[in-house]
Amino acid sequence: MTTLLPLRDYIIEAYTRTVCPLCFAVLRRSDEDVWRDAMLVSHGGSIWLRRFCAQHGETESLYEEDAEIWRARSGASRRSGPLSALFRSSS
Ligand SMILES: [Zn+2]
Repeated sequence: MTTLLPLRDYIIEAYTRTVCPLCFAVLRRSDEDVWRDAMLVSHGGSIWLRRFCAQHGETESLYEEDAEIWRARSGASRRSGPLSALFRSSS
């Protein structure tokens, strides 16, 4: 059976690990359990940190206001052409 997923409204820029802010409120940083899979995504011209926590679901927070500045700093190649045009509905 095939399930169609809704189109993402963001572009995945990088994968990382971070803490869930809600778990972090009750756990200590030394607890191995505090680390969550996360990714840096871009939408609306900014970079956002999206985290996934089994308990608290998905949270997103602003990571860098200007996506172009972040890409230049991180050394990522500037996205252009059809890929970003596909996902970017505005701006
Ligand atoms: Zn959590």
